[in-house]
Amino acid sequence: MGRKFFVGGNWKMNGTKESIDKIVDFLTKGPLDPNTEVVVGVSPCYLEYVRSKLPQTIGVAAQNCYKADSGAFTGEICPAMIKDCGCEWVILGHSERRNVFGETDQLIGEKVGFALKQGLKVVPCIGEQLEEREAGKTTEVCFRQLKAIADNVSDWSKVVIAYEPVWAIGTGKTASPEQAQEVHAAIRNWLAENVSAEVAESTRILYGGSVSAGNCRELAACPDIDGSLVGGASLKPDFVQIINATQ
Ligand code: PEP
Repeated sequence: MGRKFFVGGNWKMNGTKESIDKIVDFLTKGPLDPNTEVVVGVSPCYLEYVRSKLPQTIGVAAQNCYKADSGAFTGEICPAMIKDCGCEWVILGHSERRNVFGETDQLIGEKVGFALKQGLKVVPCIGEQLEEREAGKTTEVCFRQLKAIADNVSDWSKVVIAYEPVWAIGTGKTASPEQAQEVHAAIRNWLAENVSAEVAESTRILYGGSVSAGNCRELAACPDIDGSLVGGASLKPDFVQIINATQ
């Protein structure tokens, strides 16, 4: 079985019920390619609202969660809460979690392991900063982040990796298809060498970083790019074109 094309939307800290209704409207009208798996990442206070409005064919993700069941962790949410809102996905280790909120590789790995054990499907994010790319450290950084995640994964069928170069997120500077394909192939090779050939072959690796209606097709055409994680453009009707990028 080939890897099913996957497009995630990361709404970040955006949305009101009014603006969400507009997104629900264009996603419901589509038409969306049935060969693409679609998941949108929403703020925790809207998880249940979005789940109740979107067709069941579209998954709903939280953008973060903690690594404990319950307790004195003010401001956090746990996997059970996400499931209680009817949702089955979580995005973890987004660069904004790493770089704005100081989340470490170790914490992200532990969160991935806990979310999986609690029955969620996970989109862990990895990616280098501009200085790291310029210093020739892109794969070193991605492999270090990936190892912290992989050490906590036992069922890879519930994991979709997002490679998001930090310098391309929200900047309008997309990695070229060649730059993205090179890192995706390296990540797949790392999985083959450090996990298994089967996992390398079956795990979807998404590209994220200023994906738009204009560049989604050439990115989607790269052999190791299995979809995209989309921030800004996932709030606009253009998102439908990105979902349909392989049609
Ligand atoms: C993201 O938030 O994961 C992202 C890739 O954002 P943008 O598409 O806006 O660069």
